[in-house]
Amino acid sequence: MDAKLNAEYVIKGRVERILEDVRSGYIHMDDLMSLISRPIALFSIADILREQECGDTVTYVINRNINFTNICVGNCKFCAFRRNKDSNDAYLLHIDDILDKVEDAVEKNATEICIQGGLHPDLSIEFYSEMLERIKSSFDVHIHAFSPMEILHISRNSGMNVEDVLRELKASGLDSMPGTAAEILNDSLRAVICPKKMKTDEWIRIIKTAHRLNIPTTATMMYGHIEHIYDRIEHILRIREIQRDTRKFTEFVPLKFMKGNNELGKIVKKNVSMFEDAVVHSLARVILHPYIKNIQASWVKLTPEGARNMLFYGANDLGGTLMEENISRLAGASSGEYMPPEHIENLIKSAGRKPRRRNTLYELL
Ligand code: SF4
Repeated sequence: MDAKLNAEYVIKGRVERILEDVRSGYIHMDDLMSLISRPIALFSIADILREQECGDTVTYVINRNINFTNICVGNCKFCAFRRNKDSNDAYLLHIDDILDKVEDAVEKNATEICIQGGLHPDLSIEFYSEMLERIKSSFDVHIHAFSPMEILHISRNSGMNVEDVLRELKASGLDSMPGTAAEILNDSLRAVICPKKMKTDEWIRIIKTAHRLNIPTTATMMYGHIEHIYDRIEHILRIREIQRDTRKFTEFVPLKFMKGNNELGKIVKKNVSMFEDAVVHSLARVILHPYIKNIQASWVKLTPEGARNMLFYGANDLGGTLMEENISRLAGASSGEYMPPEHIENLIKSAGRKPRRRNTLYELL
């Protein structure tokens, strides 16, 4: 056997062994490094695992986003959404207006209302509980609301501990939580990109508390700013560790950093390529197997075509219709605020896959 053939034989054998290890639930750092240096192998393993777990089904949910306030005491350097309380375009929606938006969404067959907002200095738990109770008393809809950072903010503003906040919100109607505010789970990077935000351990503590109280959450990661590939791997491995304990993450969503109208965007020179998007989604599929089945591609961040492309790199879900999207749009995302269900279904079919509508907890409808 000549040297080239011999090398190919060794590589093929190694890739097969890595796939077998991953299928059995083992992952080794040197194997991940090896896959990163051989992206074709990484992509193939991610696609094999996606097909094994999800077949040709690609899911989506009919949902509506409601960002109830843009007033925020935070100072995240990647944020184009927050406003000071005295800004001309600062707002806080009245609960009646929130109910109008929910009614509109339910008329469009939404099964999920996703509610997130800035860290408003004057709001305590009464406002959040009343919002949940009034939605639940009028509509049969799943409420997916409040990031771990919002939960921490409510606890500080209300003089309550995090567990009591979560218990009270759950009793008022909170069904699940977005695992946003994770950004990148590395404290030295967080000190640069979101200095006032909770540290890594705090994010993990709140997520684990929510899971213990039977409040499922998503898991997210913001990539494409100042982090290194090793930081991404470390982040996804942390998510894997949590999920091994709690089993309450519903999905993992890689969120590409949007550079528009924010401080961090001025210092990040590089643009994330589709190749890099593919590496991130594939790594997520490989590292999180078999603990997290659903890898979501965000059409808001990647564009609809970009999200469709990720279906060939480990993703099996295209997220929600949203109906209203403010946070990414203000940071330069150009994909619009609403993707009607027929458009999502056509996008999925154009990839040769079968669209299926789901609820927030990934039950097929
Ligand atoms: S990302 Fe959220 S917490 Fe940070 S500044 Fe923006 S609105 Fe505030």
